[in-house]
Amino acid sequence: MIQKSIKKIVSFAGVGLHSGSNVNVRILPAAEETGILFVRTDVPGAPAIEAVASNVVATNYATSLGINGTVVGTVEHILAAFRGLGIDNAVVELDGPELPALDGSAELLVRMIEGVGTVELDAPRKYLVIKEPIKVTDGDKHLLLLPGTGKSLEIYYSIDFTHPILSKQTYRCRLSSDLFKEEIASARTFGFLRDVEMLRANGLAKGGSLSNAVVIGDTEVLNEGGLRYPDEFVRHKVLDLIGDMSLLGAPVAGYLIANRSGHALNVKLVEKILGSPTSWEYIDLLSDDDMVGVRYNFEQKVVTL
Ligand SMILES: [Zn+2]
Repeated sequence: MIQKSIKKIVSFAGVGLHSGSNVNVRILPAAEETGILFVRTDVPGAPAIEAVASNVVATNYATSLGINGTVVGTVEHILAAFRGLGIDNAVVELDGPELPALDGSAELLVRMIEGVGTVELDAPRKYLVIKEPIKVTDGDKHLLLLPGTGKSLEIYYSIDFTHPILSKQTYRCRLSSDLFKEEIASARTFGFLRDVEMLRANGLAKGGSLSNAVVIGDTEVLNEGGLRYPDEFVRHKVLDLIGDMSLLGAPVAGYLIANRSGHALNVKLVEKILGSPTSWEYIDLLSDDDMVGVRYNFEQKVVTL
């Protein structure tokens, strides 16, 4: 596998979910080893913010990156689209504080990126291969990352809300570009009508509407047309997780079990992975067969959920 970027510039505009700001975005092709860079063109000096865990500045209801006071909010969906489509390098220019919500999912991003196509670059893609379990918890929320059986990330996600129309949902997948496009990318952000006033009072969801989020009322989904998938909620949580995990800077080969996680815990896992360099290894994987020679440290750890 070799690193990829996009073939041509992608331009779009829209309203940020939380800020309500109208923002213009351009995604530009980038060279190998660039990673994903966000550039605030409206700020003097046009600071570039690398999409890495050390630049995370907020995780309440969205993941925000920042450097020296300049912030780029709600990066998780565009990062998920890049990871889902196997794009390692791109520069994202924006003239406001938050990525547009678009329709609340990554569907339009996937369509626009696929519309210009991808290009292979002159460098191998390094995978972060998990060799021993890594776990983070927050009360009854947890994320457990285990060694996997192939070069992709396998995810088992469960959510459990106390609401008449959204309680327990589970979803299991092995991440690939096709799976991402068909099953994950179109799942939309969701929120409860009962929380809208609280969110707005805290300066959040100012740009939120039925056109960019699934809104759950007391007894029904308020959006005309209902849900895109019966389990759209848990699929969106998987989309967010893929975006947050991309802050590692490399695709992960492993098996990730998630229970009721969110951006804060997702980022905590990324930080714990980066702080546990003996639990994984960077490997240039060409195929699942390359995993055969990987030696795990499994027996050294007792896993408790
Ligand atoms: Zn989301």
